[in-house]
Amino acid sequence: MINIEHVSKQFGSLQVLEDISINIDQGDIFGIIGQSGAGKSTLLRCLNLLETPTGGDILFHGQSILRKDLKLDEYREKFGMVFQLFNLFENLSVLDNVTIGLRKVKKIPKEQAEKKAMELLKQVGLESKADVYPSKLSGGQKQRVAIAGVMAMHPKCIVMDEPTAMLDPHGRKSVIETAKKLNKEEGITVILITHYMEEVVDADQVFVMDDGRIVMHGTPREIFSRVDELKKYRMDVPQVTMLADELIRRGVDLPKGILRREELVEALCRLY
Ligand code: ADP
Ligand code: MG
Repeated sequence: MINIEHVSKQFGSLQVLEDISINIDQGDIFGIIGQSGAGKSTLLRCLNLLETPTGGDILFHGQSILRKDLKLDEYREKFGMVFQLFNLFENLSVLDNVTIGLRKVKKIPKEQAEKKAMELLKQVGLESKADVYPSKLSGGQKQRVAIAGVMAMHPKCIVMDEPTAMLDPHGRKSVIETAKKLNKEEGITVILITHYMEEVVDADQVFVMDDGRIVMHGTPREIFSRVDELKKYRMDVPQVTMLADELIRRGVDLPKGILRREELVEALCRLY
């Protein structure tokens, strides 16, 4: 669906992206992780054409998005964005926050828009909050409203730039679960940028960025089995992966790349 081909980006003499190539298939979940300043948001802004790459190309269904006659609004409609900071209107109810795009951009009549919005609120588990104002919601709930608002526009792809950065563990979990559910049920492509490694455990592919480059790429299991390398890129390896790695070093016969607590328990029980 999207081919990022040798993309680079410079701000003056500062090279922020260097030779980035990623193929994004329809329906997959992509995790992009990396330290702050690695270039993750810039890559995302290039995808959405908020920034123009200084080198390389980005193809959307085989056609360059950098061509002069691209219809920018149509292109952007196919991308849904959820940002780190909650992008909700504080003076509008939850329901109105979800319908506003449908009504103002898609010109869908109020009643129809509200029906659709209620379905979406149900999907993100916030049906009962339709008439509430954002100030009464937790951080995780706000992000789920933002996700419902993006989903209302029927994008092919939802891009989330650190949507959980401001949340407590419970809120983080609810946002990630919601994204996974939409991917599974609606077949929507998810690009999830985060610096919490546990959040990409269920991704189809993971990319690790450091200093403007992709330094690791693979399935979560492939990536998580390279603990030393991850530490080199200052990534916080999940505790269970770290523990399994240390046990392997001490000679315990465990498989590499353990991602979840249950996997470690299973593997240990088999041994003892
Ligand atoms: P991340 O999202 O991984 O934290 P960013 O893409 O936000 O990283 O930033 C990567 C680098 O690019 C940083 O050094 C940042 O200061 C720089 N940068 C980002 N946007 C601009 C800009 N508009 N002008 C100059 N430098 C920028
Ligand atoms: Mg960023």
